[in-house]
Amino acid sequence: MAGDAFSPAREGKPLPVAAVSDAVAPALVTPLKTACAYCGVGCGIDVDVKDRDGRVLGVRGDAEHPANFGRLCSKGTALNETLGMADRLLRPRINGRDAFWGEALDAIAAKLAQVRRDHGPDAIAFYVSGQLLTEDYYVVNKFVKGFIGTANIDTNSRLCMASTVVAQQRAFGEDVVPGCYEDLELADLVVLVGSNTTWCHPVLFQRIKAARERRGTRVVVIDPRRTATCGIADLHLAIRPGTDAALFNGLLCWLADHGALDASFIAMHTAGYGGALDAARSDAGDIDRLAARCGVAVSELRAFFRLFANTPKTVTSWSQGVNQSSGGTDKVNAIINCHLATGRVGKPGASPLSLTGQPNAMGGREVGGLATQLAAHMGIEDAAARAAVARFWQAREMPAARGLKAVDLFEAVRRGEVKFLWVIGTNPATSLPHADRVRDAIAGCEFVVVSDCVGDNDTLRHAHIALPAMAWGEKDGTVTNSERRISRQRALLAPAGEAKADWWSVAQVARRLGFTAQFNYTKAADIFREHAALSALGNDLGKPRRQFHLGELATLTDAAYEALQPVQWPVRPAAALPAGLARQGAKVAVPSSARLFGDGRFMHGDGRARFIAIAAHRPANSVRDDFPFVLNTNRLRDQWHTMTRTGAVPRLVRHCEQPVLDMHPEDAARAGVQDGAIAEVRSAQGRALLRVAVNPAQRAGEVSAPMHWTRTVAPASCVNALVNAACDPQSGQPEFKHTPVQVSPWPAAAEAVFIVRVPRALPEADYLVRISESGCTRLQVALAVAPASPAGWLQAQLARVLPEGLAARWLLREDAARGRAALACFAGEELVAFAALQAGGAPARVQWLQKLVRQGVLADAERAWLLTDLLPPGETPCSRQLCACFQVSEKTLRDALREGFTTVDALVQRTQAGSKCGTCLPEIALLAAGAPGS
Ligand code: SF4
Repeated sequence: MAGDAFSPAREGKPLPVAAVSDAVAPALVTPLKTACAYCGVGCGIDVDVKDRDGRVLGVRGDAEHPANFGRLCSKGTALNETLGMADRLLRPRINGRDAFWGEALDAIAAKLAQVRRDHGPDAIAFYVSGQLLTEDYYVVNKFVKGFIGTANIDTNSRLCMASTVVAQQRAFGEDVVPGCYEDLELADLVVLVGSNTTWCHPVLFQRIKAARERRGTRVVVIDPRRTATCGIADLHLAIRPGTDAALFNGLLCWLADHGALDASFIAMHTAGYGGALDAARSDAGDIDRLAARCGVAVSELRAFFRLFANTPKTVTSWSQGVNQSSGGTDKVNAIINCHLATGRVGKPGASPLSLTGQPNAMGGREVGGLATQLAAHMGIEDAAARAAVARFWQAREMPAARGLKAVDLFEAVRRGEVKFLWVIGTNPATSLPHADRVRDAIAGCEFVVVSDCVGDNDTLRHAHIALPAMAWGEKDGTVTNSERRISRQRALLAPAGEAKADWWSVAQVARRLGFTAQFNYTKAADIFREHAALSALGNDLGKPRRQFHLGELATLTDAAYEALQPVQWPVRPAAALPAGLARQGAKVAVPSSARLFGDGRFMHGDGRARFIAIAAHRPANSVRDDFPFVLNTNRLRDQWHTMTRTGAVPRLVRHCEQPVLDMHPEDAARAGVQDGAIAEVRSAQGRALLRVAVNPAQRAGEVSAPMHWTRTVAPASCVNALVNAACDPQSGQPEFKHTPVQVSPWPAAAEAVFIVRVPRALPEADYLVRISESGCTRLQVALAVAPASPAGWLQAQLARVLPEGLAARWLLREDAARGRAALACFAGEELVAFAALQAGGAPARVQWLQKLVRQGVLADAERAWLLTDLLPPGETPCSRQLCACFQVSEKTLRDALREGFTTVDALVQRTQAGSKCGTCLPEIALLAAGAPGS
């Protein structure tokens, strides 16, 4: 092994900031452009950084960015509030103790070499993330496939869009999204399938909504749940889960039977139409039977089919509701079949358009960061491509076969076949299906490295070595959004502590293993140039073998990379470069990259797209007597993934504070559970405690729960512990949308609330949720057995929660006979904690109590009310927050409704709600319409 001198030099530096005296120029700020950290819309963000100390003063939508044109959603507008997060991993840790970077990297390299020598390359696995920047992704994929010699690198993008990747490869010959966001505005009909666009891709929803208001776009939502997106739907098809493929098979039959095909397009540019139609007929040829199977009225099906057939400018978009299925790939192909049959691919306002979940899932696909890919859209099973990439990388050894997909990878970890696991930027112990089993597998792995920016998560707890990674605002590189648009994510701040770029950590390990020349990067631009050059390998821009082509960017100077403008691939010469930086004499001109395949030439060898014959599909597991409900997991409006960032912003938490289970009223009655009470949800895989939200918008027989809460914030409420690990056989994507479960009452004998500044540890409880608030933390707790001594129990738990050695004075009120107690804890004259135990329900006064703990010193009147159950006059009882920007509660909006402000516009004017990012407007509209469940 070649020893490489450890260099502590920091990579990914923030842009230089001038030292300016406040006395001379008090308000000097540098405006910078970057991209959002969250979803696949990939919004551009303008950031003001104060020159003197590099502080970020504010963020706003980049008016010039083609993804959002100035818009941001609630999550994006709060990004600056996540900078300086308290719970950061600041130094490397080895077996829980702080370590030096060199020590940690040496240990990782030594272990990698030993495992590879003793057990072979396939005993090593990497699990990475769609949150990584392309440059990070590129380096880790190159290292694993080219130098470890295994294809065991998979990513949480497997959970997000793997089915679409395979479907697009099958249909188009390459994983290419043919359309672009503008198509959503040019279309006369937008069909949203399995996508709560309003909450999961909010800025695209706003673009669709604005276009609808401008030009009357019709919108069809196909989703088992009546989500907020239905607020703009002309038609909502609340189909039974798992019947999407049949629905689109039925549509294909309808198109064929009603003369709505583009026969010339089919003849000239496709293959396989006859087989696909035959399969569709045998699956869904009878519309009456199809309607019964989908659980919708025949008239609704006919209305949708007619609308699709008669609207040439139709865009169909889909997301996790389609992808996360044991038949996800077929579902996507069933959709694409209908677009091929009507010639609506890659044309303005007429295309299939997959909406990717993660900010850089597309970038990960570009570099080949999945176990089933090689690099730069080349196939791992293609020997010629492997040889070419090996030469390009000067690689040691390339795997000839696919590696393990996410679920299989962790099964191999569990069986002990994988002995070295490196997890980067993700939390598989929570996010994978059958999560308890995955957690136990990681806990039992011989050697686990975790790179993350947070100090604690369910996976980090099992790391032998933890490496501090840069977070958004510190990272420097590129991301690619759902419309193939590459944007720069720029460093705004110095990294926290000793945090490093992920590419740097991996390259340092590679160098320690002797691959110094191949991993001799000093900055992100070096990696991007190499990535761009690889995309051009054997790929003639004039007659491309692969649409993914960044060859024109392979010679960007550092300055041009720094100034890179958002650009779609395939990259047009000079399109990406701002004036003054454009390279002269570009060699090859290519047509617009906004849309692909509009000319009918696809990437299969014969240039034709493929219809795929879609057979009948059923979800992998069916309901039965002991598991009578279907669980569908979902995402919340203001939260992202496992809440590590958005969960730290109080105004993003208040829309939904605790893990919930949406249930139809009839189902709740059938299960014997009440709105707001805790229910025990069980599946064949695991168990979770969730708060019931009785919701008539939920389909009867199906329940739905957000996937965000981890065991570190809600130990008994990890929803993915329930989810079956059935996967799509083509894509390996798990079926998060269909797990049979049972729901039963979980009678809480007592509920408690703790409000503290920073908890040292969590109370002992059967149900617990940690909620970040401004200046304090609230712990909502429930117990199966009420403590014999309410006050004694509260004191014992507070002793766990409060700082050790705190000299505290207690104020106590107890009604032991009714199982109630309240306790205020003072250090000197300062209130440092409040706790209360009572028979049930969350007190309506927690926000007032939080204010007291934040302020510390109390007025006499406040002390007088402190230990009562009452809210002082003039204080507002807690109510769910609807508008995150202006923190407007549902109660305030209902009050305004009662005062006569009955339209959305009037409510917005009266309360300000919805007047900034607009993400809450669909819910305000439902409220104004008096919709049930709103
Ligand atoms: S829609 Fe929201 S979360 Fe998604 S990229 Fe834009 S601002 Fe970020």
